[in-house]
Order: sequence, then C-alpha cells, then structure tokens
Amino acid sequence: MPGMIRESKKSKGLIRALNRAAVRDDKSPAVVRKARVPKDPSICERCGAIYERKTWRSDRKVTEQLAKAADWTVCPACEQVSRQEGQGRVILLGSGVAANRDLIRRRMDNVAKRAAATQPERRITSVDELGPTGEEGLEVLTTSQKLAHRIVHELRKLFGGSATYSWQDDGTLYAEWRYDLPKPKAKKRA
Ligand SMILES: [Zn+2]
Repeated sequence: MPGMIRESKKSKGLIRALNRAAVRDDKSPAVVRKARVPKDPSICERCGAIYERKTWRSDRKVTEQLAKAADWTVCPACEQVSRQEGQGRVILLGSGVAANRDLIRRRMDNVAKRAAATQPERRITSVDELGPTGEEGLEVLTTSQKLAHRIVHELRKLFGGSATYSWQDDGTLYAEWRYDLPKPKAKKRA
C-alpha cells in the first residue's frame, strides 16, 4: 500500500521495487507459480529429466555424482501426463489367445518397451490369467489408456480378430480383443 509509506526519496525507490516485484509475479505462468519448487538439483524418477539452476532439462545424462546429490521427484511434464491420462484395461479372449500366449506376451512387451522409450510413465502394470470361473483369457493393466489402445491395435494387426474400445468418463480405456482360431476344417491336402 503505497499510501502508507511516507513520501521520501527512499520510499519512492521502495515502492518502485515493490511494484516491479508484483509485476514480475503476475507475469509468471500459472503452472510455474502453482508448482512446488524442487530441490536444486532434482531428477525426475519417471523420465530422468534433471532440474538444475532452476530449469528442467531432459538432454543431460544423470551422473553418479548428480544422482547422489539430487532429490528424486516427478517433473511437471510427467505430472501432467499422469493427471491427464487414464489407465487402461485390456481383456484378451478366444481360442487363439490360449494358443499363442507366448507370442502375444512378447508382442505386448515390445509395444510397451517402445512406448516407454519416449514416455517412461507408460507401461504395463500387470498381465494375469482371468479367473477360473468364466472364459479363459488374459487381463492386461496399463498405466496409460494410449498404451492399452496401442497393444490391442498391434495384436489385431498381427493376428486379426476383433476389438472393442470403451472410454470411461475418467479417461480410462476398457478394451477387449477377441481372437478365435478358425474352426478346424476337414482338410485333406495330402
Ligand atoms: Zn519427468
């Protein structure tokens, strides 16, 4: 409140300084203002980005020395991705799934590995057999609906079969892929 400071050369300078500070505050982007300030240096535990001298950079290598000195945290970019992106749940069904289990798993691992190369926060959380009751199959959980979508897309490309996708309100994707082996024909090819 400028009015409360008695006018003098000194107070004018103080007011100008206060005003400058206020202007600078208002200009800083909302995201920067809200985010807590990480310890300097810090390393993002998800993507390996390094926070040093008040800047996040992802083009530096984490040295042993830096890893010792730094705090482990989650960088703003990764935080944003995990906020925006829902998880994925994929159900794999059909006789073709049981018959090609290993190949399917390898394909899924490859897809996940490729996704993780650019976005480490996207990964497969678990692969489980469906319960003993009901149909045989696999349940795949992912941290990312995009990865879930990609997995089904790639499996369909490789094997065929049919897929359904259903996005939930919270951004989660529920996908089902059904792959049945062709009914055995009376083959006499001798
Ligand atoms: Zn990160």
